[in-house]
This record gives sequence, C-alpha cells and structure tokens, in this order.
Amino acid sequence: MSYRDRFRVEEGAIVDLEKIDPGGSDERHGKKSAVAETARLSRKLQELQYLLYAENRRSLLICLQAMDAGGKDGAIRHVVGPLNPQGVRVYSFKEPSAQEAAHDFLWRIHKQVPPRGEIAVFNRSHYEDVLVARVRNLVPEEVWSRRYRLINDFEANLIAGGTHILKFFLHISSGEQLKRFKKRLDDPTRHWKISLADYTERDVWAQYQQAYAEALSRTSTAQAPWFVIPADRKWFRNLAVSNILVETLESLDMAFPPPTADIEEVRRRYHTAMRGEAKAREGRKVSGR
Ligand code: ATP
Ligand code: MG
Repeated sequence: MSYRDRFRVEEGAIVDLEKIDPGGSDERHGKKSAVAETARLSRKLQELQYLLYAENRRSLLICLQAMDAGGKDGAIRHVVGPLNPQGVRVYSFKEPSAQEAAHDFLWRIHKQVPPRGEIAVFNRSHYEDVLVARVRNLVPEEVWSRRYRLINDFEANLIAGGTHILKFFLHISSGEQLKRFKKRLDDPTRHWKISLADYTERDVWAQYQQAYAEALSRTSTAQAPWFVIPADRKWFRNLAVSNILVETLESLDMAFPPPTADIEEVRRRYHTAMRGEAKAREGRKVSGR
C-alpha cells in the first residue's frame, strides 16, 4: 500500500485521533533503513522539484500542522532542506500582526501561495484559524464554524489555478511532547525555543485534539487531502512525509517543456564557435603567446 493511501484522511471520513497510534511506523523499516530510504527519496524529490520548476505549469503547497514540539521544524529541515532554495519557500505563520488581523483570515495566507513551478511550505497555516482560534475563543463560534467551508472554497480556488495541496498533521502523543520539552529544558542552546505558552497550550491538549479531529474531518478533500502522520519517531515522520511528496509528484506525470530555441540551429552555432575557438588557440600557439 502506498504511503498516500495508508495515511490519507478520506473525504467525508470522521477522524478519531485516539484510534491513530502516534508511535506507528512501517514494519519494513527500522531506524537505520528508514534513514537510508529517506535519503534516497530526498534525491528523487530533488529531481521532481527540478521537473516541476522546468515545467512551470503547476505548483505545490504543503501545510504542516502539529502540537508544540510536534516536529514541524524537523520535518522542514530534513525533507525540505535538501531542495533547491530557488524553487521553494517556507513561511511560518505566527500570531497575526495588527495589519493581518485587520483583514479576513485568508488574506495573509493567499499572499504566500506558491506561483507556478514552485513549492511553498506553510509552517502552521490558515488552519490555526479553526484550531487556536477555536480552542482559545479568539473569535465567536459563529465565526470559526463558518471557516471550514471558507477554507474548502479557498483551497478549491487554488486547485483550479493549478496548485496541488498536501496537508500534514504530525501526530505526537502527549508523553512524547513532554519528553521533547524536557530535552529543551536540559539543553541551554534550546532554551530560547521554550515558551510558557507551550505549557498552557498543553493544558488544553484534549480540546486541541478535538479541534484537530474536526478540522481534518471537515477539510480533507480528494484534491486537498490531509495526512495524519505518526510522528513520535522522527525518522518515521521524515520517511512518511518524503514518501507522500514523492508519490504525489510522480503521479503528476510532469514533462520537460519543449525547447523554445531551434536546437539544430543552436548546434550549428556551437560548432561554429568551436571552430573559432580552435583557430584562436592555433593562432596563440604560432605567435608563441
Ligand atoms: P515551535 O514548535 O518551535 O515552538 P511554533 O510554530 O510553535 O514553533 P511559535 O512562535 O512558538 O512557533 O508559535 C507561533 C504561535 O502563533 C502559535 O502559538 C500559534 O498558535 C500562533 N498562531 C499562528 N497563527 C495564528 C492565528 N491565525 N491566530 C492566532 N494565533 C496564531
Ligand atoms: Mg511554539
């Protein structure tokens, strides 16, 4: 079974996150072979990115969501890091600025969607507006409850314009989160990453899981699917995300565009230039320079 089929949330399915094991992995891989396979997939992904860029017909949008310490940064570093920076951009969405908050919630998002030929990675996304906004009552229910449909319509519009959308929920257990918080606490070079908010958000873990489950259930569509990735093991998270990216890009049947120049004419020019070069070299030899 492909990774896409294994981890995709089917359109209309009701997600129960308690039934999905954050510690899950692939029986075919232990850590060592997963790391080797991820490296192989990474090279494949580089080739596919080159083709996407050359073809210049469509784009790819990747949304990453997770609880704090869920591994969004790690996934970006390992999976997206090896790509050519000319064709990929990463955007981290924080609490909206005053200017952003003065607009509709999709305004700041729409500005960052990828142009043809490029990949955009959203580290958090418009989904925060049905997650933190819901759990923290940042807006009334009648406002956030309308957003699922607005999000689906927004994504349908992007898809119609040639953007492919993949959404990943990196699913960790609360025990694993606490382990990662501890690691940050034990390592002074990571203290800058810690915020008290990490703990206050953890206090409402169950509400977040519920908000996630509803967001995944209501906004996973055939064209813009959600994937729930077991993410307690970082090496498996990287393997699963890499696989889904490769499988998706391969399914696009991309092709290099035809040359814009007359290649035969260019070949003639090349040979003429070569003869000129040889003559000049000969000339330099004769004159002893
Ligand atoms: P790390 O995992 O390293 O802590 P992070 O993604 O949590 O990275 P932070 O700067 O710690 O980055 O947090 C960003 C904060 O911005 C999150 O608490 C998130 O909920 C909040 N945020 C993002 N989008 C919105 C939004 N639309 N409305 C309100 N808060 C938002
Ligand atoms: Mg944080």
